[in-house]
Amino acid sequence: MNTIQNFIGGRHIAPISQIYFDNVDPAMGAAYGQIPDSGAADLEVAVTAAKNAFPTWRDTPAATRAAMLSKLAELIEAHKEAFARAESIDTGKPIALARSVDIPRSIANLRTFAEAAGTLSGQSFKKDRSESYTLRQPIGVVATISPWNLPLLLFTWKMAPALAVGNCVIAKPSEVTPMTAYLLSELLNDAGFPPGVVNILHGKGASIGAAITRHPDIAAISFTGGTATGIDIYSNAARQLKKVSLELGGKNPTVVFEDADWKKTIDGAVAAAFTNQGQVCLCGSRILIEESAYNKFKADFLPKTESIAVGDPLEESTQHGATASKPHMDKVLSYIELAKKEGGRILTGGTRRMLNGRCKDGYFIEPTVIENLPPSCRTNQEEIFGPVVTLIPFKNEEEALAIANGTQYGLAASVWTGNAARARRMAERLDSGIVWTNCWNVRDLDTPFGGMKKSGVGREGKQRAMEFFTEEKTVTSMRT
Ligand code: NAD
Repeated sequence: MNTIQNFIGGRHIAPISQIYFDNVDPAMGAAYGQIPDSGAADLEVAVTAAKNAFPTWRDTPAATRAAMLSKLAELIEAHKEAFARAESIDTGKPIALARSVDIPRSIANLRTFAEAAGTLSGQSFKKDRSESYTLRQPIGVVATISPWNLPLLLFTWKMAPALAVGNCVIAKPSEVTPMTAYLLSELLNDAGFPPGVVNILHGKGASIGAAITRHPDIAAISFTGGTATGIDIYSNAARQLKKVSLELGGKNPTVVFEDADWKKTIDGAVAAAFTNQGQVCLCGSRILIEESAYNKFKADFLPKTESIAVGDPLEESTQHGATASKPHMDKVLSYIELAKKEGGRILTGGTRRMLNGRCKDGYFIEPTVIENLPPSCRTNQEEIFGPVVTLIPFKNEEEALAIANGTQYGLAASVWTGNAARARRMAERLDSGIVWTNCWNVRDLDTPFGGMKKSGVGREGKQRAMEFFTEEKTVTSMRT
């Protein structure tokens, strides 16, 4: 058993309660580690360490902070195979995906903010005899709370800007996938971070997560996770007027017109549907297809879906691994049952996939495609967050927009068409924080990122993330 510990004040320490719970390998359906069940008392120790570290960290030159972030990136790079393996075991995702996307992107996050440290500037104003300028300063002790689907990628994406601009951080990774954050904690002292600057607390959302959102000395929270949790955090934070950034769920449309570059569109729609077993917030889980191309789309999309290699996440050839946990698998399967009750026709998949050997008890679900459901039914309205997509025909642009915009979410959309004017019209009118035209999940870290409607509050992106973790102060003087 792999028992992990919290990282507080530069040291690995056990939870004060001494209580732990199981860390389950979803591909095996068996516990392989123990996670601290941290609570308010552990948080108190971490906040004290962070508060003590803040005055010195705030005044540390940006170049020194940048060097530590770069060093951390270098250390992760040196251990990248161990990180990829841990990510794959913890999440159930194919190791090839962890190796090619999650770990390199996490390293890139640290390098991006190392380069950006020290670049935030204020503004200046002159009116008659008054002259003003603004100062961007770190907030103090801030918290990050992250989910299980891209554990190291989102953990580093939140932590790095907070540190780059001079805050001390209390970071809470998901209790479903804590291993990569733990491995990272083993490198923090070698990277040079002073004790108390980064504190990592493991445990459940309802206990340590909720305690973080209520703590009076934590002035800002950057959260990525489900919409219901986001609403909870927003309400708790509001009582103390904490700054909050919320990156939440989605029910993203992939909109396909007949005039699209067909091969590119099919490849893109399959990737958008099933990458990471459909467990990426940006996944296109509703595929809207122009009626005239509906049958052609099915004829090409279904064989490609059926050719996805489902298997042991630790095997190199696997393209589709396990869903993240038993409760999550049960939730996804319950949505497939709901879809059937709502009149849905399962075109492929639709069941748990049983494997042999090491993975015989794993939480695998077939890539599943469903049609014949009205846009307004629950299957087409609620986030399933698994390898399940629905096909929905539409007659024209107007109808495509009405269906695409007809949910409470507004995170990401992709539009596939050969008509550039239509692509621009759609981009303007889609209720979506991100619109991709003829591509999916192309991320430039410089661009703002975030959702509309119930998909989030605020925008992240290199500049915006650093601004979020600062206060802007105005200093005014009068010429005499
Ligand atoms: P979740 O909301 O259940 O948990 C996210 C984190 O919040 C975890 O660390 C959890 O322990 C913590 N948490 C849970 N309850 C809490 C509470 N009451 N107070 C404080 N913290 C609490 O989400 P999840 O199941 O881990 O992740 C999947 C969700 O994340 C999906 O909805 C997905 O769309 C979303 N997501 C969004 C983005 C984005 O950028 N918009 C990116 C990735 C994932």
